[in-house]
Amino acid sequence: MADVLEYKCPCCAGAITFDSQAQKMKCPYCDTEFEIESLKEFEEERMEEDHDPQWDGENVWQTQEELEDEDGTLVSYTCESCGGEIVADRNMAASSCPFCANPVIIPRKLSGALRPDLVIPFKLDAKQAKEQLRSHLKGKVLLPSLFRSENRLEEIRGVYVPFWLYDCDARAELRCRATRVRCWNTDDYSYTETRHYLVSRGGELGFDFVPVDGSTKMDDALMQSIEPFDYTEAVDFQTAYLAGYLADKYDQSAAECAPCANARMRQSTVDSFMRTISGYATCIPEHTDIRLKQGKITYALLPVWVLHTRYRGKLYTFAMNGQTGKFVGNLPVDKGKAAIAAAGSFAAAAALAFLVTMLF
Ligand SMILES: [Zn+2]
Ligand SMILES: [Zn+2]
Repeated sequence: MADVLEYKCPCCAGAITFDSQAQKMKCPYCDTEFEIESLKEFEEERMEEDHDPQWDGENVWQTQEELEDEDGTLVSYTCESCGGEIVADRNMAASSCPFCANPVIIPRKLSGALRPDLVIPFKLDAKQAKEQLRSHLKGKVLLPSLFRSENRLEEIRGVYVPFWLYDCDARAELRCRATRVRCWNTDDYSYTETRHYLVSRGGELGFDFVPVDGSTKMDDALMQSIEPFDYTEAVDFQTAYLAGYLADKYDQSAAECAPCANARMRQSTVDSFMRTISGYATCIPEHTDIRLKQGKITYALLPVWVLHTRYRGKLYTFAMNGQTGKFVGNLPVDKGKAAIAAAGSFAAAAALAFLVTMLF
């Protein structure tokens, strides 16, 4: 099995990539388009080669072409187009050659148990991601000018992030202490009457595709904030979708990520039960009993545009949902501008106070 996979254009032998606008494979040199389906056969042939006798499986995983560095975190590959050496993180499954920019895919990181079940193909391209970032920065008056001008928009990268999607049934009981308060006045007294209630809820809830990212490189909170993804657009995984993008295989197993999924499902269960309780002044959960019955776990690659940028020694990360365009990321604040803005609002308040005094 080849160490590195490239999709070559049959017309001009250029390296073809997945085009998110056309939702097809496209040759950037001669503009020929190919249906993803037509590459399936090619991929299946390759998969058959993968299924070598299991007894020498160990050897298959350590082919001579993959050279690891001493502590095993970096791996080097040889580019099939230019012969250049591609040094990558050991989890890397798709990237591009730093010398000839041709996309490369490492099939070994995507086959057997590492083969994703589903992929949501990119729908938005780099240009749209850059526009979103620009509009994210627009109107942010407290943003340091240097940050705006030095921002390296070019370094925005399309990444297929490995996610575990959990299906689960929850059977839950919830008991709350609730109150209703009534106030009234007589000539002599003010009365407050507080009635106490015990409110119970019980039922079953089904969860489909609760996502947790399986990559330690990706910030979990950032990945959660670009949700939701529309899983109705997910398709069966094919390596061709990765051509032209970055992808890592998971480095946190489904079992390692399960506590995070469970916590999300527990919280959602409590939230959805609480939403059915209304008409009380206060309502505090006193006892919850939630039993989760784990269903299927799906391994999926989801599309994310990522931009890392360093400003005054601090790393800022922006992420955009490559399917919906939802954009998140923290921005630095210019202390000088913030002081001026604060002084400005103080001045406005002072002017208002002056006006008020004038009126009286
Ligand atoms: Zn071509
Ligand atoms: Zn190359």
